[in-house]
Amino acid sequence: MVLERMKSIYLDNAATTPVRKEVANVMTDVMSKHFGNPSSPHALGDEALELITRARKRIASLMHAKPEEIVFTSGATEANALALFGLAGVYGTKKRIVISAFEHSSIREVCAMLQGGGYEIVELPVTQEGLLDIKALEQALTPSTLAVSLIHGHNELGTIQDIKAIASLCKQKNIFFHTDAVQSYGKVPIDVRWGIALLSVSAHKLGGPKGIGCLYVREGIHLKPLLPGSQERGRRGGTENVPGIVGFEKAVALAQKNDWGTIEKLRTWFEKELEGLGGVITCKQSPRLPGHVHVSFPEQDAEQLVIALSEQGIYCSARSACLTKQHTEHKVLDAIGMPQKLQKGSVRFVLGAETSKKELKVVVSVLTRLLS
Ligand code: PMP
Repeated sequence: MVLERMKSIYLDNAATTPVRKEVANVMTDVMSKHFGNPSSPHALGDEALELITRARKRIASLMHAKPEEIVFTSGATEANALALFGLAGVYGTKKRIVISAFEHSSIREVCAMLQGGGYEIVELPVTQEGLLDIKALEQALTPSTLAVSLIHGHNELGTIQDIKAIASLCKQKNIFFHTDAVQSYGKVPIDVRWGIALLSVSAHKLGGPKGIGCLYVREGIHLKPLLPGSQERGRRGGTENVPGIVGFEKAVALAQKNDWGTIEKLRTWFEKELEGLGGVITCKQSPRLPGHVHVSFPEQDAEQLVIALSEQGIYCSARSACLTKQHTEHKVLDAIGMPQKLQKGSVRFVLGAETSKKELKVVVSVLTRLLS
């Protein structure tokens, strides 16, 4: 049974985004008409192969990569795991991996497993402004360091790291640089020629379907596959998710047309209103993703506020969706040294490509009522 829902205002676009209508249409079309297996030697197989070849090209070009450097995966959790386990499986004589103190759980959990297997995992501090401490990074790049993995656009705070400088520093020292670009790809410029060795993307963060993403792997780098098989040049076995890949491509094409400048202006307006309600904007002075707002309302209980907003059809979050149900401590906010009083009242609103000022005005008026 489909439940009747009130008209909602969706401001949780870092957790996932609504699938664009054009994406759903093209996927339905692929499922019904082009259902061949890309490895089949007949015309239907060729058709499917052609579709994924075209998609690979477009997805690669948005990060200035070559199509052969893209490995399709089931999403960014897999891409992150393939990056680090894959490197460790081939270049495992170097046993040190450097990450930041506020990486996504999908990186932290891979690192915990590698640590159990004898790797040294170094967690670098981040500043109060949500940026990696570059001095600490420089000191951490020892000859035994295999890789640095750093989130590009932060999923909770929205801060953007200077991966251009960091990747080039790593490349000079012959250290693989991996970045989780899940939140930034399609929103801010990314160029793998900055010295990026590996880069993870997920389609459902930019209007595409869930369960599809990719890992960029710089030409010449070998990875031990997580799933052995002939597909994806031996880097990821399993019949390709053709509808997902085509949906991913469509989402990328649409994302390139988004007007992020206007969304950023809308965000600035919204933040001023939130400040008027007593909100404190986190990492306000740092480079940030255009639609991301992380705000603390001192003395408020964010979890209750999120529920109260949800009851009014307004969807946002108090923390990363990947952690909501498991953790009580807040590692990210601890990492930037946010006082407990602010942590407890912190909420994330993430505007999407289709968020309007009218919607945000409704949110401000509901919040005014809830906070009074
Ligand atoms: N990294 C970041 C920064 C994310 O926000 C997410 C999604 N929550 C992931 C990785 C995992 O992506 P996926 O859902 O495609 O596995």
